[in-house]
Amino acid sequence: MKNQVYRIAIMPGDGIGHEVMAACLPVLEAAMAKVAGRPLQFDTHHVGADVYQQTGSDIPATAWAAAEAADAMLFGAAGDPNVRYPDGREIAPQLDLREHFQLFAGVRPLRLLPGARSPLADPRAADIDLVLIREQTEGLFSARGIDDSNAQQATDVMTITRAGAERLFDFGFGLARRRKAAGKPGRLTCVDKANVLASMAYFRAIFDDRAVAHPDITADHVYVDAAALHLVRAPWEYDVMVTENMFGDILSDLGAGLIGGMGMAPSADIGPHHGLFQPSHGTAPDIVGQDKANPTAMFLSAALMLDWLADRHDDAAARQAAGVINSAVDQAYATADLLPYEHGGSHGTAEIRDQVLQQIDSLQLAP
Ligand code: ATP
Repeated sequence: MKNQVYRIAIMPGDGIGHEVMAACLPVLEAAMAKVAGRPLQFDTHHVGADVYQQTGSDIPATAWAAAEAADAMLFGAAGDPNVRYPDGREIAPQLDLREHFQLFAGVRPLRLLPGARSPLADPRAADIDLVLIREQTEGLFSARGIDDSNAQQATDVMTITRAGAERLFDFGFGLARRRKAAGKPGRLTCVDKANVLASMAYFRAIFDDRAVAHPDITADHVYVDAAALHLVRAPWEYDVMVTENMFGDILSDLGAGLIGGMGMAPSADIGPHHGLFQPSHGTAPDIVGQDKANPTAMFLSAALMLDWLADRHDDAAARQAAGVINSAVDQAYATADLLPYEHGGSHGTAEIRDQVLQQIDSLQLAP
């Protein structure tokens, strides 16, 4: 779509959410300016623990309305271990947004950037380039907020529905196909615990049903415990992985560790009509206000947002701007020897932002 000005609902959240978002907005603007000279319309809303303390609501009505109307949501991180709902749970507006907008596919790309450091000594770590898709509207997290515990026991329920699993797997096969067109293996691996839980045997059976409709993609399975082992031993062997909510929550942190830390892992939460983009990390209260937050995952999440907008609106400029951010981040790591604090280095939020902005400035666009 030509001359589209996208309305982006900006939700920095709490803690380092503010810091990585503040670093990201100039990067987004610079990338859009580089390719098209057109602005994005940012509409900032406060959600999370701070606003909950002030107003009694973690997502005020104005923020809900802005999220509904926006072309996309860009989210920092939210929550504070010291601020809780009366039942003791942490404030987590991102979970409410996922459920409300049915953001069923949590897309977590895990790629080791050129020049970035993995804790794996094997040189093949340079080839880590997989995507973990986490179901986000049901699974074990559907038990959230339902408390029937008593002094003797507590039970949480894993919910898998046919409709929920089918849309998840179809999304996964579609993503594997798209990556195959770009030279990846074209493989989707279902991560489950089908050997123990009926819900997971059901999940796997639906995966196998849907695989029949996608014969061009190699479909296979792995138990979640074995997946944890393989992800540490040979993560470069995976292409696209798909799993239920809780397993995905755990494995995506493991995956972030493989590519250098939470600050390197972006995510896209995709639903039928809405998309929310945020780094995989939380609010990191231990490093707030020290310029130690790595904003890389936030930048890469913004690129995922532009890519998604490009698909939805058939917008070549947005696609090109996403490419600009990805290339600039790659170049910054490859050439500036960036070593964020979380890797034991001394490059902080501002330095990483400036290096990426400099790369955007000097990038030569293909004619
Ligand atoms: P949540 O439950 O919301 O996912 P969490 O408590 O599991 O959050 P994070 O806030 O993601 O955890 O932080 C986990 C660790 O990773 C902390 O030590 C934190 O300092 C570090 N960390 C997280 N994000 C970043 C970042 N962007 N840059 C540097 N360190 C980070």
